Amino acid sequence: MKIIPALLMLAFFAISSNAQNQAILGEDTVRVSEHVWAIMGFPNIGIVVGRDATLVVDTGLGPRNGATAAKVAKRFAPPNKLYLTTTHFHPEHAGGASGFPAGTILIRDKVQQDEMEKHGAEMIEMFSSRNAQWKELLADAKLPPPDETFDKERVLDLGGGVKARLLWFGGAHTKGDELTFVEPDKTLISGDVVQNKVVPNIYGDGGTPASWIRVLDQVAKLGAVHVLPDHSAVGDGSLVAQEKAFITDLRTRALELKRQGVDADEAGKRLTVEFKTKYTDWQINSVSGFVKSVYAE
Ligand SMILES: [Zn+2]
Ligand SMILES: [Zn+2]
Repeated sequence: MKIIPALLMLAFFAISSNAQNQAILGEDTVRVSEHVWAIMGFPNIGIVVGRDATLVVDTGLGPRNGATAAKVAKRFAPPNKLYLTTTHFHPEHAGGASGFPAGTILIRDKVQQDEMEKHGAEMIEMFSSRNAQWKELLADAKLPPPDETFDKERVLDLGGGVKARLLWFGGAHTKGDELTFVEPDKTLISGDVVQNKVVPNIYGDGGTPASWIRVLDQVAKLGAVHVLPDHSAVGDGSLVAQEKAFITDLRTRALELKRQGVDADEAGKRLTVEFKTKYTDWQINSVSGFVKSVYAE
């Protein structure tokens, strides 16, 4: 009898870790909170359902995935108006916008749109060169201009008392990272800014470790109870403090080694060993990339 739960757990982890790397989104959803659901995949897609409108956060990689996300979102409330927003401009988050039906209202922060215009096409090219499947998924990806952009905050009233606050607090993983805070659920759809035990990463000319910490201080004030990250498991509000603690620890240690004259490559190697030992339940392959970002700050 005891072996059955163990096997079920194994099967569950096999499925969930597979889903995390699976570039083709499925149609199954998990419920995050009263009005928020998610398709768990690459990346996790957030779906916020109000009485009159539904908001989808992120598109999946390429239009085929975008069409799946839209279809699943529509199923919750077919007559609802459809909004789409994206956590950042990277292709698995925003490269499926053209798969959404006509009439979908696309909104994102201005800084993110600016990055999209500068680097969006080049990122799609880069992702396409990684493997044949991604190339095919991105073959007809278009980057439609948003219907609306905002500076720091746009509140979407989805009806029936459900509100989604779209927020830009500054640069972290990218310059334009957007966060969505759903009320009354107190659910944070956190993009790459808050993950569940995943090493943070700053891509290209994104934010800095210091600006990431400042963003997290703002996020903490929201008082999230549920957190839906985009590349890891759903968690509670404690993920915000956990992310800040990890980044602060890694930044402090990297700055210490820098002061001692250790070069960035060597510091990355040493801190990877140190943090693997210290954070045993985190997915740590290497912290070298983030250490480089600290050195470059
Ligand atoms: Zn990204
Ligand atoms: Zn991503």
